[in-house]
Amino acid sequence: MAPRLIVVLLGKQGAGKGTQCASLSQRYNIPHVSTGDILRAAVREGTPLGQQVKSVLDAGELVSDDLVVALVKERFAQADAATGALLDGFPRTLGQATALDVMLGDEPVSICINLDVPTPLVVERLSKRRVCQECGAIYRADDPAGASGTCEKCGGDVIQRADDQPEAIRQRLDAYERDTAPLLDYYSQKNLVVTVNGDQSVEAVGADVARALSDRGLV
Ligand code: AMP
Repeated sequence: MAPRLIVVLLGKQGAGKGTQCASLSQRYNIPHVSTGDILRAAVREGTPLGQQVKSVLDAGELVSDDLVVALVKERFAQADAATGALLDGFPRTLGQATALDVMLGDEPVSICINLDVPTPLVVERLSKRRVCQECGAIYRADDPAGASGTCEKCGGDVIQRADDQPEAIRQRLDAYERDTAPLLDYYSQKNLVVTVNGDQSVEAVGADVARALSDRGLV
C-alpha cells in the first residue's frame, strides 16, 4: 500500500487553504480535514460540542488543543483517511503539532505547504468571503451565489461567517501570528516546508502546490 500522504496547509485565514484543499482532495482522492468546518458543523447542528465552542468561534479565538486533537484523532479513524489527509486549520499551535506527530507515529507529516499572502489582501478576501452553510463551498460577495445567497452546488444558504466580521478577522490574524506562525520554524527544522505564493489565481496556486508534491516524490 502507498504510504499515507499527510499534507499540512499553513497560511493566514483567507490565504486560500480551503479552496486549495477542495481541489487537491478531488485530484489525489485524499480527504480534506478542516477542523474549522468540523467545529462550525457542530455549532450549526447545536450538538454539545457546538454549544461548548460557539462563543469561542464567534470571537475568533482558538478552542483548546485537547479538544481539536481529539476531533482530529476521531477523523483519522474514519476509513477514507487511510490514504492520508489534507490538513486545513490544524495544527494551529505547537502543542497541536507535537500531538499530531505522536498521533501519526511512524507515518509522519509528508509536507507542509505555506500559502503566503500579504495581510491586507487576506483582510480584503475575508471581508468579501461568503460560504455555503450546508456544503462549505466558498464564494465571494459579488459572485452570483454570494449575491443571491443560494449555493450553486447544493442549494444551501450562502452566508457571511460570524468570524469574517472586522473585529473577529483582527483577532484571528493576531492568533495566527502568535500561535500558528511559529509552526513554520517547527516544520522548517524538519525540512518539510515549501512556500507557495498565494497571491495568484486559484489555478496557478494549485499548479505550484502540485509541483511541490511531485518534486518531493509524494504523488
Ligand atoms: P478556520 O475555519 O480554520 O478559520 O477555523 C474557524 C475557527 O475554528 C477558528 O477561529 C477557531 O476558533 C476554531 N478552530 C479551527 N481549527 C482550530 C484549531 N486547530 N485549534 C483551535 N481552534 C481552531
